[in-house]
Amino acid sequence: MRPPALNPLFAPVSTLPGIGPRLEKLFGRVLGRDDERPRLIDLVLHLPTGFVDRRSRPRLSEVKPDTVVTVAVRVDGHRPPPPHRPRAPYNIDTSDAGDGMQTLTLTYFNARRDYLEKLLPEGEVRYVSGTATLYDGHLQMVHPDRVVDEAGLAALPLIDPVYPLTEGLHPNQLRKAIALALERVPKNLPEWQDATWLKRNGFAGFAEALERIHRPQEPADINSDSAPWSRLAYDELLAGQLALALLRAQQRSRGGRGSNAAGRLRARIVAALPYALTASQQHAVADIVADLARPQRMLRLLQGDVGSGKTVVALLAAAHVIEAARQAALMAPTEILARQHLSTIAPLAAAVGIRVAVLTGRERGRERAGILTALAAGEIDLLVGTHALFQDEVAFRDLALAIVDEQHRFGVHQRLALARKGEAVDLLVLTATPIPRTLVLTYFGDMDVSALREKPAGRQKVDTRTIPLDRLDEVIAAVARALKEGRRVYWVCPLVEESESVDLAAAEERYAELKRRFGASVDLVHGRMRGPDKDGAMARFAAGDTRLLVATTVIEVGVDVPEASVMVIEHAERFGLAQLHQLRGRIGRGAERSTCLLLYKGPLGDTTKARLAIMRETDDGFRIAEEDLKLRGEGDVLGTRQSGAPGFRVARIELHATLLTAARDDAALVLSRDPKLTSPRGEALRHLLYLFARDEAIRLLAAG
Ligand code: ADP
Ligand code: MG
Repeated sequence: MRPPALNPLFAPVSTLPGIGPRLEKLFGRVLGRDDERPRLIDLVLHLPTGFVDRRSRPRLSEVKPDTVVTVAVRVDGHRPPPPHRPRAPYNIDTSDAGDGMQTLTLTYFNARRDYLEKLLPEGEVRYVSGTATLYDGHLQMVHPDRVVDEAGLAALPLIDPVYPLTEGLHPNQLRKAIALALERVPKNLPEWQDATWLKRNGFAGFAEALERIHRPQEPADINSDSAPWSRLAYDELLAGQLALALLRAQQRSRGGRGSNAAGRLRARIVAALPYALTASQQHAVADIVADLARPQRMLRLLQGDVGSGKTVVALLAAAHVIEAARQAALMAPTEILARQHLSTIAPLAAAVGIRVAVLTGRERGRERAGILTALAAGEIDLLVGTHALFQDEVAFRDLALAIVDEQHRFGVHQRLALARKGEAVDLLVLTATPIPRTLVLTYFGDMDVSALREKPAGRQKVDTRTIPLDRLDEVIAAVARALKEGRRVYWVCPLVEESESVDLAAAEERYAELKRRFGASVDLVHGRMRGPDKDGAMARFAAGDTRLLVATTVIEVGVDVPEASVMVIEHAERFGLAQLHQLRGRIGRGAERSTCLLLYKGPLGDTTKARLAIMRETDDGFRIAEEDLKLRGEGDVLGTRQSGAPGFRVARIELHATLLTAARDDAALVLSRDPKLTSPRGEALRHLLYLFARDEAIRLLAAG
């Protein structure tokens, strides 16, 4: 049960005054809670990406044009647009509140007169903050950011935080909501961090740290390496490390069973493969099989870049327990990926007599009931699916091995759910996250690691080029040649958060245009499509019925069509390096030489240029990950922060690596002394687990 002290923070955002369903939806989007109701905790953990410095308070005669200033003015008169030109600007004449010498025109477009007359009453003094400009020799300010009276001035933040937004949400709406939410942060929460550690680092309490970041006193407060930010990052990292440590303790404490098999089934699969396993695949299989045979529980990470061939390793692992007459489950993060695994596995399974079924949100009614019955009876050997696998009704006869394909997400959550699923289940986590080796253990917990370092034989480096978007005609001509040679082409259009509908429209438009040009061989797949339609589009492309597939980034994860050898990525400048690498990994899988065209819209900032250059240079996922970290440290040209480390809101790999190590040690120490979290600090730490959504771990405590 959640500690009652936290209840105010878990109230929905809509309990704040002035937030109705429309705003709630926008808040859900900007806070990353599209599917569930956004709560106050999400608001207070929505941290600024920068700030506007309003500290410059010159007299009007000393204002430097094109800088942000906060000035005191007297309102001299309103000049609304004439009735016959309602779209003309609304001007308000003001002059210096002190000497009255210099004047400043405040200019508004599409503003309501009654609103402005109330905001800036004639004859009165107001404080106005914004960017002043020179227009025709006159000092002007278009749409001041803030207008306040004497009383408001005291509360005006001179270091004004800037937050990530979403289309339709006004900064002031977000600011106001955050301010209200901050007031509801309980001041009496027990401190979960060690007092000495806090003191040594100069860290304030949780509530105070939040306050300092949202109401900064100086610019440095807003940096991700400031004391208040580091405090929160440490909180988040410690919550993550505690959850992992609890999971590990639980997994290790209940011994495993050991599955015995001679390896005949595995050998038959290997014989049925159209290729030879790479040396690192063979090593990985040997490691896994040795683990499975041992009576201890396996906790192993299989790390390998996209295209390195993790699926077949997973299947061979499953074959071991199946030969021992037990069951295996393979869980993927998305529907498409689950079906992709199934289509890789199904023919091999059929060849050797392994009974496979798929279970996702889409199997319903009688079909689903049939699968569940067969599963419980042991008539299914390997169940492939999405998180639907871990619903309560899903019962195995004897689940021996759970394989979780995390791709590049950190799904501690799923692993926790899984830990509750069976007795003594061995766990294999697949990941394509090419995070630097030193951080693997800390991010994934204390797992054994097998890495697929080499690519399957015969793979060629993808020829990658960057081309400005205004040379689109040449690109289309190149695509025409490729299609004529019988090649298969992905055309990726980005979906960026700000406006999904606008992006989708862009993808549909591109699809329509390419279809006019290339006819029936063109198809479209995007995230808003219904599951079966998505599968249909992928299947037609895989079969070669269509040969040019326009896609949004839904193809990013795991999709495997070896015949595809050309990829066009539109607006490549909008993608992060890791994402570009994942996308490009979809081609270059067959014997054919592959080409990737990165179309960008200039002008490019330095960081973006560097990103694209790295893509041209290398296809080594580890090198790309390292470069990515370096570049991210220098900030993003778009001014939007690349969100923290995957699965984290506050912590950032490149800045908080030392905190991460400390959190790992701290978690280990805490649990060695207080494995059930019942001491005063333990009780306080339970609060922390809830605040950072690691509360699944608390159920492990209850389960014992
Ligand atoms: P990922 O590691 O990204 O999940 P997959 O398991 O999807 O990679 O494998 C990518 C492709 O490589 C598949 O088409 C698979 O059949 C093929 N493949 C896997 N291992 C080998 C190998 N040793 N030699 C050649 N092709 C392989
Ligand atoms: Mg895969």
